[in-house]
Amino acid sequence: MSAVPRPRRARSATVVPRTAEAAAPPPDASARPTPPKSAEKRPFLLDFFPLETSDQTRLHRFYERLREGHLSTTRCARDGELHWPPRTACPKCHTEELEWVDLPDGGHVYAFSAVLAGAPLGMETDVPFAVGLVDLDGAPLRLFGRIEGRPWTELRIGQPVRVETYDIGDGRMFYRFRTVG
Ligand SMILES: [Zn+2]
Repeated sequence: MSAVPRPRRARSATVVPRTAEAAAPPPDASARPTPPKSAEKRPFLLDFFPLETSDQTRLHRFYERLREGHLSTTRCARDGELHWPPRTACPKCHTEELEWVDLPDGGHVYAFSAVLAGAPLGMETDVPFAVGLVDLDGAPLRLFGRIEGRPWTELRIGQPVRVETYDIGDGRMFYRFRTVG
């Protein structure tokens, strides 16, 4: 028997290396500088906002229209079905012959709630903020989104709102609602 005992393989695969930062005691949160939103890099899987360019999504037209100040969606050229969110194929008849249509920019709050904690990455400093369902005026669509313009404690069902497009801070566009009246 000439077996030489093999050195035990370190179970490094299961060990997560601790960085100096991870090993350090947690810093005082109040002393930590808040990075400007525009410079923030979010992990892809935790990024609330979609990728928007033509090489990233076939729905890039939606974001281009947001940049032009309009909320839009797809409508089936065959059966007239209006989609939300916009689609690359009609869920009813499966055709890819879709047309882009602008949506009304006014609506009324159907229901709302407030985010008080556990906000998505990048929105932590915005809490509390209102989110809700908005019935668009003149379109059979009920959209979910953030509602700005007045504290959530002052929102009411039926509150008139308008669609607002905005740059989220890194060049991407999104929509939200703002109270009117
Ligand atoms: Zn269809």
